[in-house]
Amino acid sequence: LLGADGQTAPTIFAEMSALAELTGAVNLGQGFPDEDGPAEVLEVARRAIADGANQYPPGRGILDLRTAIAEHQQRFYGLNLDPHREVVVTAGATEAIAAALLALVDGPDDEVVVFEPYYDSYAACVALAGARLVPVPLRWPDFQPDADLLEEAVTDRTRIILVNDPHNPTGTVLGAEVREQIVRLAQRHDALIVTDDVYEHLIFDEPHVPIASLPGAAERTLTISSGGKTFSTTGWKIGWAAGPAHLVDAVLAVKQFLTYVSGGPFQPAIAAGLRLPESFFTGVAAALRAKRDLLGAGLREAGFDVSRPAGSYFTVADAAPVGATDAAAFCRDLPDRVGVVAIPITAFVSAAHRDRFATLVRFAACKRVEVIREAAARLQRLA
Ligand code: PMP
Ligand code: GLN
Repeated sequence: LLGADGQTAPTIFAEMSALAELTGAVNLGQGFPDEDGPAEVLEVARRAIADGANQYPPGRGILDLRTAIAEHQQRFYGLNLDPHREVVVTAGATEAIAAALLALVDGPDDEVVVFEPYYDSYAACVALAGARLVPVPLRWPDFQPDADLLEEAVTDRTRIILVNDPHNPTGTVLGAEVREQIVRLAQRHDALIVTDDVYEHLIFDEPHVPIASLPGAAERTLTISSGGKTFSTTGWKIGWAAGPAHLVDAVLAVKQFLTYVSGGPFQPAIAAGLRLPESFFTGVAAALRAKRDLLGAGLREAGFDVSRPAGSYFTVADAAPVGATDAAAFCRDLPDRVGVVAIPITAFVSAAHRDRFATLVRFAACKRVEVIREAAARLQRLA
């Protein structure tokens, strides 16, 4: 995890946000919204602070939030969870991912299968756990995996298939046949499935289908999510992991020594958010879908080839048609050339597969409409 000089390298998100600040460029790099989420959710946090919810919450999270998470899984997906034994609140999805990997993999003989490109913390946490990362590349431009490559990647050495759906950085939503293949392979090789569903409500075509809802999946699946994206509260870091009690206990065993607990007054606020009416959730998705369309049109007009994301904050574009041969160099120069920050997909891939993704760039659509319009106008100058 240390660079060649022995120093820790900043994440690509920190690096690119710093570059945006330094150059005054429009930041379509790091995925965070630039508007507040629902006022009633913010108000619950304010009230909780005023009412004294400022000490350690219970290790598993306050029961009201665990109950709201269980109710949410029932309301949206028909999943039954016991809030006392099958849910744990974490410091964002990030901690749930880290704790799950540290708890559930056992060193160099264990493999963790991920789709590539992958969210940066997956590779880092697999490395911290001392296990081996096995990346299965997704195809440009639909970003689905090749069934044969997935079949080959999962073996008896596989401890976890780590899934992120909807997917960061590509915005893809896995096809039904891919989800079923994942469950079949996990059963055949007695592997666990860990799913990162943080974009579960930021989905544009069909409702989210959690892998835990597939036949035979629930008993081997740990589902992770977070309030950050759905409620535009990425700084609150309220996440959770839900699934069979023995998997949740394993997460808790590690989590209690990572942060112990976090976000006391934000926990009741996210509980209130999870209980908002259906119209809130469909509204969030519809607003983001419109931004995806605006960003996609601007990128196409500027000369990029553009993928069509079915969910998440992100759109991936191929910068080769606008002259790029290396996305990292392209993104480093972009703020000075036209005043826009974006993230090279090569930041999310293994060294062995870098060439496949060499000219792809991730743009965040989770910004105000006028910010996306301004970025699109600036990008036209690439022509
Ligand atoms: N997983 C994915 C795929 C993400 O995109 C993010 C947020 N950027 C996280 C996990 C982290 O979520 P949180 O902020 O809740 O820790
Ligand atoms: N998940 C956010 C993204 O993909 C960034 C989170 C972070 O900075 N760690 O842009």
